[in-house]
Amino acid sequence: MYYDKQTVNYLNGKWQLATDTQAGLYQQTFHYGNGVFEGIRAYATDQGTHILRAQAHYERLLYSAKTMHIDIQQSVEELVAISHKLLAKNGLQDAYIRPFVYTDEMLGLQANSQANVFICAWDWGQYFDAGALKLKVSRYCRPDPRSCHVDAKVSGHYVNSILAMKEAHLAGYDDALLLDQNGFVAEASGANFFIQKEGALYTPPKGHILPGITRSIVMELCEANGIKVHEKLFKPEDIYAAEGAFLTGTAVEVKAVGTLGEHTFKRPWDETFGALLQKQFSQVARKQKVKYQQFKAA
Ligand code: PMP
Repeated sequence: MYYDKQTVNYLNGKWQLATDTQAGLYQQTFHYGNGVFEGIRAYATDQGTHILRAQAHYERLLYSAKTMHIDIQQSVEELVAISHKLLAKNGLQDAYIRPFVYTDEMLGLQANSQANVFICAWDWGQYFDAGALKLKVSRYCRPDPRSCHVDAKVSGHYVNSILAMKEAHLAGYDDALLLDQNGFVAEASGANFFIQKEGALYTPPKGHILPGITRSIVMELCEANGIKVHEKLFKPEDIYAAEGAFLTGTAVEVKAVGTLGEHTFKRPWDETFGALLQKQFSQVARKQKVKYQQFKAA
């Protein structure tokens, strides 16, 4: 799915065939998760390939690396240019780009500043095939921000997401909704969470979440539409009175949440802000004209 015999990727300044790419088993990243990465989408548009918020994604990559004391030599501009070249070399337009930064061979626990910059890309289809997602409140909570930098995209953090996703799947759900250690809603395994209630949207504030780039695009769209967004802590029981809910993320884009546990949201999806934002997000990604609404902020 990720590559075939022709696929080319980037590693430390060189282009190489994916089938020739190798990494060692003695790397610290492999053993302890000390690596950082990004997930970026490219869209085919009338004006060529559009890498959505490329700058912001690479700024976040550099930030994530900094939190782990990893030194990346390339600038944001260089990484963006490499990504465009990578897509062109592989003849990709609608694609997912995965930059991954791993450290050298060293199995101690000393921070390892050595950065190997790997970037690959593949053709992208739908992440979830179901119409509206079924979420389960997870028994796993998000890492405490006193334990690690939860706002950084660090490989090791994702064991938490994997456990939560597995638990949800075993119980027949599509994804997990993770709480923080105080019982407030944080986010899904790999996406941010919004609810609609009494004419406004609510989303958990920064603190226990990865502040998503899709989340900020959606908040910009809300601003343009006159939809009020409250960044506020809330508990799962507050969600039961909500009219609708959705996830945001590079992979899921804007995705309807149909149920949370046994609870089904009151309003048909098409009549929620989520449906409008889903449409507008797709237009922004594809550089199409967006027709904004004029809601009165509640
Ligand atoms: N939270 C987590 C834990 C994620 O992995 C992601 C995906 N990167 C998101 C939120 C959404 O972030 P973005 O919109 O930047 O993809």
